[in-house]
Amino acid sequence: MKAQTTAATPPAFTDAVALGALVADARRQGKPIGLVPTMGALHAGHLSLVDTAARECGFTVVTIFVNPTQFGPNEDFASYPRTLDADLQALAGRGIDAVFVPSTDAMYRPGHSTYVEMAGPALVLEGEFRPGHFRGVATVVLKLFNLVRPDRAYFGRKDFQQALLMRRMVEDLNLPIAIEVCPIVREPDGLALSSRNVYLSPDERRRALAISQSLRLARELVERGTTDARTILARMHERLAADDLRVDYVALADPNTLEPVDVVNRPVVAAIAARVGATRLIDNEMLGEASSEK
Ligand code: AMP
Repeated sequence: MKAQTTAATPPAFTDAVALGALVADARRQGKPIGLVPTMGALHAGHLSLVDTAARECGFTVVTIFVNPTQFGPNEDFASYPRTLDADLQALAGRGIDAVFVPSTDAMYRPGHSTYVEMAGPALVLEGEFRPGHFRGVATVVLKLFNLVRPDRAYFGRKDFQQALLMRRMVEDLNLPIAIEVCPIVREPDGLALSSRNVYLSPDERRRALAISQSLRLARELVERGTTDARTILARMHERLAADDLRVDYVALADPNTLEPVDVVNRPVVAAIAARVGATRLIDNEMLGEASSEK
């Protein structure tokens, strides 16, 4: 009988020193180092980043760390899905060289007192509804950058504002790291993949579609010549209300500054955060430019 062959899972490191030695070795060999930061519970959205990084880099590190400092006191840090074994299986055979899975205690040692505070586009949208969120994100990402020292780091457009802020951070802090932003991966019916989708009941899963459909509606309105932001926003709110979603924000914003726009006569990002039951979901779509995603 033929032995079944399964791809080996990539080596997982909890210790930054051991990982650093391996990365340093790859760097000495002239290999471009890629980093894909995640909180685990990996799905095809994460894996698209992973595959792009593995294709473009000579040595690719995926990090899995549910970062406590980016969760608010009433958010889902404790219940966030943690599926390490399945995550490592999902990464097998994808050309990943190392997985970094640090403990919370190692990342935030007693007395930790330094945080990255971002202003400007960090204060609107997610920043307004999740105070402290981007402080936690920027802090942990800068720490991961310092531990791994990648040449390129990969983020998803699903978290549009986060990707924008990571671009700002590397520019503002003179970090020699290229930020690569990958397209949103969606379910066939349009729902953006998210680790939080597992929280949805079947009824909520159906209603959650209102988010991507509202973005699609905005896109169609713009394609048919509507430019008035108020009109588009009203139609988006209507679509979300039809499925009883509780909206944190619906925005049409400049994709670089995230300032609200009145007229959609150039590329604009449409962004939504809404709750379906107890689950808060975000999604976005570029309007006024040829779509690279369907
Ligand atoms: P998370 O584990 O939620 O922190 O996400 C890790 C990375 O995966 C972030 O850069 C996300 O933007 C990205 N990501 C999450 N969901 C998707 C998706 N549906 N499509 C593309 N990228 C995604």
